[in-house]
Amino acid sequence: MYLYGTISDVVELTPSVRLYEIKLYERISASPGQFLMLWVPRIGEIPLSIANLEDRGLWLIIAKKGRVTTFIHENFDRGTRVFLRGPLGRGFSVKKEFRKCLLVAGGYGLAPLYFLARQLKDCGITCDALLGFKSVREMFFVDEFKGVCTNVYVSTDDGSYGFKGLVTDLLDTSVTLEAYDAVYTSGKELMMLEVVNRCSRRGIRVEASLERLIKCGVGICGLCSLDPLGLRVCKDGPIFTGEVLLKLRDFGRYWRDEHGRKKSIEER
Ligand SMILES: Cc1cc2nc3c(=O)[nH]c(=O)nc-3n(C[C@H](O)[C@H](O)[C@H](O)COP(=O)(O)OP(=O)(O)OC[C@H]3O[C@@H](n4cnc5c(N)ncnc54)[C@H](O)[C@@H]3O)c2cc1C
Repeated sequence: MYLYGTISDVVELTPSVRLYEIKLYERISASPGQFLMLWVPRIGEIPLSIANLEDRGLWLIIAKKGRVTTFIHENFDRGTRVFLRGPLGRGFSVKKEFRKCLLVAGGYGLAPLYFLARQLKDCGITCDALLGFKSVREMFFVDEFKGVCTNVYVSTDDGSYGFKGLVTDLLDTSVTLEAYDAVYTSGKELMMLEVVNRCSRRGIRVEASLERLIKCGVGICGLCSLDPLGLRVCKDGPIFTGEVLLKLRDFGRYWRDEHGRKKSIEER
């Protein structure tokens, strides 16, 4: 069963990242962290996080990477009809007793955390955000996060905006991890590994959004399975707790290519 929608606006966020605002033909409900499969006929189907969902308005943030995402950037515009499957997977877990949370994101990893930040605000939970980019040219959504978070700290690798360094360096310079009930992270896997390690050492609840190649999206094909627990990113994730992630040999080390072969995470 596909969901149908029409693109109502396209916003160029950076030279390689665009926000696609879509009007769905029907109302759906989803939790932050869940994803949709966007099917582009004759080109391919890819997983994308829900960056926002309000009434029938859906936001997808798409970084130009390869075959499908380049086709979308070059051909999708206002009025383009889109075909989606989902929402799929498990989202972030938010507990009523949480008072203050921290979001740590890099690049298009901002997408699921923006949706989460809005939900936390709606639940009366305050949150701070650490956002990392390669440079000011690659920076986006900082004002949107400022609209829903109490404090937003930005890092750039080259120092062209905010703190010069990695987003994980901000964990030392800008915040005290112990002040948060939970930490949520999404972005490059080695960055998330660092966040998960630091939180786990201090006994702080942490959840991360994992990326693997996803084909079926419903737990059948096994392409996104994780050793040694056999968990599937599309069905058991993409959000996993730090406790589970640290039991996975694959986390921060390996992913599977389109043939199921294991490759080092550095090769992605
Ligand atoms: C749960 C989930 C949520 C995602 N959310 C978003 C999002 O909100 N916005 C966004 O821009 N992208 C997101 N992605 C990544 C996106 O699905 C891939 O960038 C996309 O599938 C690449 O397709 P392509 O045909 O353009 O690239 P391809 O031609 O297939 O590949 C180009 C390069 O990208 C790498 N790649 C392909 N698929 C993935 C993947 N799933 N994860 C990491 N690297 C990949 C390949 O190894 C290759 O190096 C998400 C992925 C997952 C699993």
